Amino acid sequence: MPKFYVMILFDDLNLATPVAKAISDMGFEKPTPIQAEVYSPILSGKDLVGIAQTGTGKTFAYILPLLRDLKFSKEIHPKILILVPTRELVLQVVEQVKSLIEYMNVRVLGVYGGANINTQKTAVAEGCDILVATPGRLYDLIISGSIVLKLVKKLVIDVVDVMLDLGFLFQLTNIFDHLPERRQNLMFSATMTEEIDALIDDFFITPIKISIALSGTPLENIEQSVYQVPNFYTKANLLASLLADKNSYTKVLVFVDSKKNADRLFTTLEEEFGSEMGIIHSNKSQNFRIRSVKEFDSGKNRILIATDVIARGLDLDKISHVVSFDVPVYPENYMHRIGRTGRAEEAGRSILFYTEMEEAPKDAVEKLMDYQIPTIEFPEGVEVSQDLIPAERPEVFEKNPNRNFKKVETGPAFHEKKDKNKKTNQGGSYLRKKKIYKKPQTRGDKNFNRRNKKK
Ligand code: AMP
Repeated sequence: MPKFYVMILFDDLNLATPVAKAISDMGFEKPTPIQAEVYSPILSGKDLVGIAQTGTGKTFAYILPLLRDLKFSKEIHPKILILVPTRELVLQVVEQVKSLIEYMNVRVLGVYGGANINTQKTAVAEGCDILVATPGRLYDLIISGSIVLKLVKKLVIDVVDVMLDLGFLFQLTNIFDHLPERRQNLMFSATMTEEIDALIDDFFITPIKISIALSGTPLENIEQSVYQVPNFYTKANLLASLLADKNSYTKVLVFVDSKKNADRLFTTLEEEFGSEMGIIHSNKSQNFRIRSVKEFDSGKNRILIATDVIARGLDLDKISHVVSFDVPVYPENYMHRIGRTGRAEEAGRSILFYTEMEEAPKDAVEKLMDYQIPTIEFPEGVEVSQDLIPAERPEVFEKNPNRNFKKVETGPAFHEKKDKNKKTNQGGSYLRKKKIYKKPQTRGDKNFNRRNKKK
């Protein structure tokens, strides 16, 4: 850990007395790296993007400076808006805010979907200074006129990667329309994606970017290796051959870049490893996800296939191997992936598969780490598949499927039609009416139409 972090104490942040007292009640000794790094930039009022995982103390990192300017007010409408993707996170953030405002005269409120909206409307009407919300429910409350956001000067979008993964982009951009233009935007995410980049481009003004990529996992603790593999199905064969070694591959987290490929990999390996393998991504139901994580964490399942975004919130211990089934487009995501192994002073193992097409992102990962990952020769015994997934196929034009079409003579139906099916098509009631409708050219035509309409 750089010296810089060790030197900073909460006293150095010059927190307001009631906040400092609340912090000392909690027994926290010093700010975490993200807390120390973002405090001054947030106070300066600039837009900020923080790349940090859950568990780094990022919630306090944005709340602490925001509380600095927050004063007692009788105003009903919120001044700080914090958006998070799930109900659980709303409750968690509300709890954290509450613990910090214990000695302050300010109000926090949480609103989220899946709960009675009328109860929430009543709570909103009583007023709050800090509103914590999921985008969907917040948008419903805006539309119904229950929430007015015209006083919001500070907007926090937290866990934005998950938010976009859950498809909240539409609600987010609609919410932006209801916020005052002059405001400070803060965004926090564990992973970076192209969608997030685009969102920043559209709504943020030259933001400061602060990245806390490795949350306390020194690289030396992780034994890394890389295999060059021709394609998806060969990667699957290689993975299967590694997983066959049950003694060393005791708890394996497999990262796949997309939901589609995660499902595809699961199906490919299901026959061999189905009884000891789970899968988790944002298209799976909440219950399914909870069950998959539980079964992996408890040791019932040895293997878990996951997408980057969904896996980042999981607190999983004692992972023997992290397998990157593909190279993430954003090199920081690779750091997050491998950070899941080798925790708590134990050596971890990371294995990366890459195809020729993935050479550039692999180089970017190595550049970021300033480390060349040792290559392992592709094992001889593993079958090289010729099957390609759509993304790997060269573009081909489909043949006209009708060219060799042979008309097949069909015989009569083998049963008598039911009475209701014997009706012939009369053109529908609208068309029948239309037949007796004459485009009026004279007053007489109009009367003709009127008479027919009455029939
Ligand atoms: P977060 O990354 O915001 O989900 O925070 C993870 C956990 O770290 C929370 O349970 C906080 O209570 C705790 N935490 C936050 N700041 C500190 C700190 N400065 N020292 C110790 N623990 C902290």
